[in-house]
This record gives sequence, structure tokens and C-alpha cells, in this order.
Amino acid sequence: MTSGPSDAELVRMALAAREQAYAPYSNFHVGAALLTRDGRVFTGCNVENASYGLTVCAERVALFKAVSEGSRTFTALAIAGPSDDYCRPCGACLQVMSEFAPELRVIMADRTGRFRSRTLLQLLPEAFSMVPGT
Ligand SMILES: [Zn+2]
Repeated sequence: MTSGPSDAELVRMALAAREQAYAPYSNFHVGAALLTRDGRVFTGCNVENASYGLTVCAERVALFKAVSEGSRTFTALAIAGPSDDYCRPCGACLQVMSEFAPELRVIMADRTGRFRSRTLLQLLPEAFSMVPGT
């Protein structure tokens, strides 16, 4: 049984987390809010670096925060970007999500908080796995 905030509340938390984004190179500020099965929420923002390849997306920041604090079961992740379009996770983040939460629901929001959701399976139907047949 999932408990905790609604999708709209998760989107609001992602929008708030976006305020912390460190994105001086792209100026593309993103926030994420990850809901655990027991109702906790971990937020993240993108953190860029002068060595561009070291940049970490908001979704992975939120997920790594959660895992590092003992949470490994997730039900939904909201992501909010700065544009008028829904902010979709990149392929790297989808792969990281699939490691821990293949059943995850991904809520994608624009800068105003308008959102839509998809399952992770819809966004990444053929995720890499070390386990045959999964
Ligand atoms: Zn990403």
C-alpha cells in the first residue's frame, strides 16, 4: 500500500528542489522528488561541473540520497524542469531507476507544475540487466 503525498504534491516538491539546482553551464534547472514505499520523500537537483561529464541529474541525486540513507523501494518519482514541455528523464537516469524500481511511476512536469505520468517500463522497456530473462 502506497502512502504519502499525491502526485501534485510530489511535483510541488520537485519544483521547490529545482530552486537548489547548480546549473551555471546549461542554465537548465531541474528538480526531482522520489517517493519511497513507506511514504518518505527524497529530493534532488541537478549538479553541474566545469568538467561537463561529471554533471549529475536531479533524479540520480534524489535516488542516491535515498539509497545512501537506507531506502531502496520506490513507488514514484516527480521531475520538474524549466521549460514549457514535460521534463523527461535522460536514458542514464532511467537505467539507474530500473536498478531499484522497475515498477516506478515517473511524473514529468513543466515549469508551471502541469504534469503527466508514465511507467518506467513505458519509458525504458528494454533496460539493461545482469540477470538473464529479466
Ligand atoms: Zn538524467
